[in-house]
Amino acid sequence: MRLVVATRNRGKLAEFRSLLGAHRGLELLCLSDLPPLPEVVEDGDTFLANAQKKAREVALATRLPTLADDSGLLVDALEGAPGVHSARFAGEQASDDENNTRLLELLAKVPTEDRRARFRCVLALATPDGTLGPHTEGECEGRIVREPRGAHGFGYDPLFEVEGLGRTMAELSSAEKDDLSHRAVATRRMKDELDRWLANYA
Ligand code: IMP
Repeated sequence: MRLVVATRNRGKLAEFRSLLGAHRGLELLCLSDLPPLPEVVEDGDTFLANAQKKAREVALATRLPTLADDSGLLVDALEGAPGVHSARFAGEQASDDENNTRLLELLAKVPTEDRRARFRCVLALATPDGTLGPHTEGECEGRIVREPRGAHGFGYDPLFEVEGLGRTMAELSSAEKDDLSHRAVATRRMKDELDRWLANYA
């Protein structure tokens, strides 16, 4: 059975493939494998609203069951920012480096003990007629360091020290990140939901 993952990010697709690919013989496709689709505007106030909107619009456009995610970083000292604005924290077309620089500037005077943060991921499913299926959520706790460290991953990974590890996300191998990331937690929860959902859907 084919399942569209509503992303163009091959790194994310690889994460989903390693976590879900062998599951029930699912064939995972990403948006780059399909004819061009209209861009989904992520204008929701919550990760759930954005994930569900993406799942529904892509499912309707592709006529295939679709899994969509929305994720981001929540920093306690910034009252949950950048949150749903994580990708464009430093401006509409901001690069990862620009977003990371903005984050470090805003936290410059914040002491170590107050730099708690978490990554959050919400996954949502939709059927080809746009009906929403189950959704799951995953979090990964940590804190924002003062200097970027590590060369793996993407986004805020070099600034996010994972709780209890003393290493940033960018200092973890992809296998290590796949084991503990917010996306990994949400995806493991989604495996069980998918089982039930596909049984009804097939
Ligand atoms: P989206 O879920 O693709 O919309 O991601 C939103 C933004 O959140 C990304 O552009 C990153 O800035 C940030 N983000 C989400 N997941 C991660 C992660 O695993 N590592 C680092 N940054 C992330």
